[in-house]
Amino acid sequence: MEISEVFYILKSKPMTPRCPFCQSNQTKYIFPTYDLLQQNWTVYKCYSCRYYFLYPFPTKEQLQQSYHFEYYGKGAKKFSFPLLENFINIYRKKRAKLLYRLLNKKTQAYILDIGCGSGRFLEYLYKKGFYHLYGVELPGYSAQRAAQYPFIKLHITDIYSVSFNEKMFDAITLFHVFEHLPDPNMALQLIGRWLKDDGVLVISFPNIASQQARWFKGHWLHLDPPRHLNFMEPQDFISKMQMFGFCLLTTQYTSLEQNPFGYIQSILNMCSSKRELLFEAFKGHKAYTQSHFKVLWLHFLFFALSLPFFVLLDIIDSLNQQSGTVLFVFKKEPLCKKDAN
Ligand SMILES: [Zn+2]
Repeated sequence: MEISEVFYILKSKPMTPRCPFCQSNQTKYIFPTYDLLQQNWTVYKCYSCRYYFLYPFPTKEQLQQSYHFEYYGKGAKKFSFPLLENFINIYRKKRAKLLYRLLNKKTQAYILDIGCGSGRFLEYLYKKGFYHLYGVELPGYSAQRAAQYPFIKLHITDIYSVSFNEKMFDAITLFHVFEHLPDPNMALQLIGRWLKDDGVLVISFPNIASQQARWFKGHWLHLDPPRHLNFMEPQDFISKMQMFGFCLLTTQYTSLEQNPFGYIQSILNMCSSKRELLFEAFKGHKAYTQSHFKVLWLHFLFFALSLPFFVLLDIIDSLNQQSGTVLFVFKKEPLCKKDAN
């Protein structure tokens, strides 16, 4: 083959990364993005299994750097502002109430929270009377906080390294964890194995098909590179879960906790030299925000003035199933199992 032919092939068939989930090379570049350290990334979509994934795949060092302690906030809490922490606690309590209802108030149920963070959600379940509470969290400040709760059977490791008995749990929860998992297919297989028949899975993640994702692309808050490695459109995820033997019970699109701020921070990202300035300020990440105090006041003003509008927009988005995040409730039910295609 002559060199000119090699160049022709390279030009007509650009190199695309292989999908990390199905190994197909039918992948397509979607848009560029950047992280807090101004490193460049791209989002690709696999046309075979329909996963979106971050490319290049972050190295172990890049991931460790991105999970630096400010990700979880300093001290005992994620957010530095007590008002904000109290606001988030309202939603943790709401999620505990949801699970309480889903389990028909059966307080002897076995519950596993994957990516349990500082354990606050499990704490609310404990207050509801549940006592078989298990958590998995990566080593770090968050896990240290969760370890202080004696009622949590905590495994400080990743989901792929932990082992539980087959059909052990009545409920498994993953709140904004799925998008962090390097091998979501393996994770779903493990969850299917650990969950009892009729067990409940509650899972939430950013909605890559949302209005805010489509408008803001690489500036979108919930893209959060390089910590968020994979995304799925809600309808594709529901189909995939049926292949794993899960029936959809319900979906929730409205989230005042996540979605209006998703709009606000994404707009601010478009107008700033650094992304997530306001969000990092709320977490007390002074090293990141200290030279931006003047502009942060403007960001805060924009946040306060525009919040009601974006709450309204989230309600409209949720009617169209296009909110920035989505929460699903599935039931493990072998009769639901559908083959691919
Ligand atoms: Zn694929």
